[in-house]
Formats: sequence, structure tokens, C-alpha cells
Amino acid sequence: MRALRITAWGGPLHEATIDPPVPNDSDLLVRVEACGIGLTVVNCMQGQLGDDPSYLPLTPGHELVGIVEAAGPAASAALVGQRVAAYFYLICGTCPHCLSAEDSLCTRFRGNVGVAIDGGYAEYAVIPALNAIPVPDGIDPVAATTIPDAIATPVHVARRARIEPGTRVAVLAAGGGVGIHMAQVAQAYGGDVAGLDVVPAKLAYLADELGITAIDSADFGSAALPAAWGGQADVIIDLYGREPAQRWAIEHLARNGRLVALTTFPGESFGLSSRELVLRQLSVLGSRYNSRYEVGLAASFVRSGRVRPVVSSIVGPEQVAATLDAVRAGTILGRAALAW
Ligand SMILES: [Zn+2]
Repeated sequence: MRALRITAWGGPLHEATIDPPVPNDSDLLVRVEACGIGLTVVNCMQGQLGDDPSYLPLTPGHELVGIVEAAGPAASAALVGQRVAAYFYLICGTCPHCLSAEDSLCTRFRGNVGVAIDGGYAEYAVIPALNAIPVPDGIDPVAATTIPDAIATPVHVARRARIEPGTRVAVLAAGGGVGIHMAQVAQAYGGDVAGLDVVPAKLAYLADELGITAIDSADFGSAALPAAWGGQADVIIDLYGREPAQRWAIEHLARNGRLVALTTFPGESFGLSSRELVLRQLSVLGSRYNSRYEVGLAASFVRSGRVRPVVSSIVGPEQVAATLDAVRAGTILGRAALAW
């Protein structure tokens, strides 16, 4: 089968012909139809989510969608023939966190699809049956690549930050793969949404297609939230992960405000005083990926039309490396995807 591989962490992606994988134990064999191309894949390939040399050579790509073709000897055959999307985390399914739909906090977490095991930049992939989330009929495979991360992660944020009708929500980096769906999910939960970004085409999409307040954040010093909000937000979701954005967020939170952090970089931190936390009763919430339950919720939002997947670039295997460069440069509106 055709596969795109890396042979070193941080090394280039190259095409190879390898044997199709065989599903062992409780694994499923998936014929990959499409796989998302986003910033997390760039981070995975650099080794930021695990850089064990024994994982190499590796097929990256975690947002894979495809048809289950076979089940391992210990896996149920119930999903054979069904379109599924892959859950990103390799989890145990039986620890207290897994049992309470907090899968991303699994105490026996053993890495990620596309890092610790081969991912979806190949014609076939093997994933644990626990990681196969059925995709509802009527959602095409390219659109479905947004469900397990780009939409389900915002669903997790919306629930953690208690977004409800009337909540004023600002999304920082709202035109990217997670941001453009975060803005829509916040709307689906009833929030009034403003989106900050720096790319004119992304700002135009947010305003014209999603009908949200689009704010140019090229200079955080002058970026202002709507006057009708009193210049403040109840929830600010930071997808930049850098100190200027986080300080701006703290300063623009209303009383009882919640800052949600979900983008991280090694060594990055920001200053915060107990006094500002207490006087405005602020909360700073970390948000880690999502649960399989929330992937199901994300799929239902897509099926009902409440959230529209934004995949602006659909490419073949020859163009994945160049598309990853565009992702790195921040020029892709929403997500990109590989279609086999
Ligand atoms: Zn677990």
C-alpha cells in the first residue's frame, strides 16, 4: 500500500510502499478514505507528543476516517463495513477517568494515533476498536475528518467553560482548524461569539460566513472586544498559546470570566496575580482534547447542520508535505485534508 512516512522526528515526509497492516487482538483494519492535515500533525511529526525512536519509521495523521474492513480475533465484528473516525488518544477504557467519559485523562494513556502507532497518511491503518467512533450516514469522509479533533475538542471546551445562551465568547486564532469550529460550537451552545485572527481572508470568512464579530489581532495592544460587550468577554479561548495573547485574555475577562487554555508550547508561561483572580473571580481552565462521548456529540452537530465542517484544501498524497508547510505558515482557512 502507499504510505507517507517519517524516519526521524522532525524529518521530512516521504512516500513509501509498505505491506498493509494486520489487525491483531482487539484492533480494527480501516481502509482510509481521508485524513486531516493540521497543526497537531506538525507537532506530532516534530516529536512534541512523543519522540521514542522505537516508534519510527512512522505514518503520521491522526484525524483519519475510513471504512472498517476487518476485525482482529478479540474485536467485535459489529463495525465491519461501517465508516468510522479515529479517536486520537490510546486509552485503556477501564480506568476511573475512562469510565466517567474523561477519556483524555486516562491514567493508563499510552500515546497517540499517528505517534505511538501508525496513522492515516496511508491507504490502510490499524486502530484499537476502542478508538473507532462510528460516523453517521450522510457525512462525507473529508468533512468527517474534522469531527474527532477540530470539532470535538471545541465541544469539550464549551462544556468545560459552561458556554450557554448569552455567554460572551472570544476565540483567539478563530480562523484556524480548531478555531473556526470553536466559533461555531460556541454559537451552537448559544454563545455570542467574537473571533480574533490576523489573516484577512480568515477574518472575512468569520464575518461573512459565520456572522460573528471578526477582530484583527495583529497588534494585541489595540485589539478590542465589542463595545456592546463593554469590551469584555465571559469566556476567552486561547488557541495561540503565547504570553501576549494570554495576558490580553486575562485583561479582557469580565467578572466571573473563564480563560480556557488548550494550546501549549514547551517552556511557555504567563504571569497571573492572585489579586486579579480574586477581585474579578476569574477561572483559568486547562482543556485537554475531548472524550469519545464528545466525539459523538460533535458528529451529531455536523449531522444536524449546527456546525459546518470547514475543509478549505483537499489534496492527494503528493501534496501533503506542501500543505503541512502552509499549515505551519498559518495560511490555511480551517482544516486541510488528504483524500485517498
Ligand atoms: Zn483509562
